[in-house]
Amino acid sequence: MSKRGFWGGFWSLIVGLGVTLRASFRKNVTIQYPHVLVPVSPIYRGPVRLISEEVGGDHKCIGCLACQRICPTHAIPILTTKKNEENKNVPVDFVIDDALCCFCSLCVEVCPTVALEHSRIGDLAVEYQALLRREIMHDGTITSDNFPTSTGKSGGKS
Ligand code: SF4
Ligand code: SF4
Repeated sequence: MSKRGFWGGFWSLIVGLGVTLRASFRKNVTIQYPHVLVPVSPIYRGPVRLISEEVGGDHKCIGCLACQRICPTHAIPILTTKKNEENKNVPVDFVIDDALCCFCSLCVEVCPTVALEHSRIGDLAVEYQALLRREIMHDGTITSDNFPTSTGKSGGKS
């Protein structure tokens, strides 16, 4: 190696170490995901869920199927209904596939009883795509309104 090449390489090394040293004292711009989650924006739309205080709680769904019909990506693959003793439609099974959902909010807006809402769950990483298919109601009972996150935490949920 020529003398000039040696000093050129050495100078590059010094400059590189200087950049590293300066960056070591700056505030971090990265986070230790999934141990730390970023708070979501106030206008964030998370996975759609039935409005309910708790799993197994009351809901306002009347099984009109409007949400399933309007969904542009067929992200509600299962929404079955039956007639109750008053001959009214009631929902039985309700599945939302977040792998297909584009978070357009049409289902939330079209719902005549305001039974749906966007959650504020921001941690959407899962191990298997199948986990994105959520059965939110089974046999007329709300089974889950929580997203199965990779960490078990609800990122940014409020
Ligand atoms: S969630 Fe709303 S739009 Fe969908 S079936 Fe129930 S009542 Fe109808
Ligand atoms: S937010 Fe849009 S894409 Fe997602 S389930 Fe509702 S209508 Fe379908």
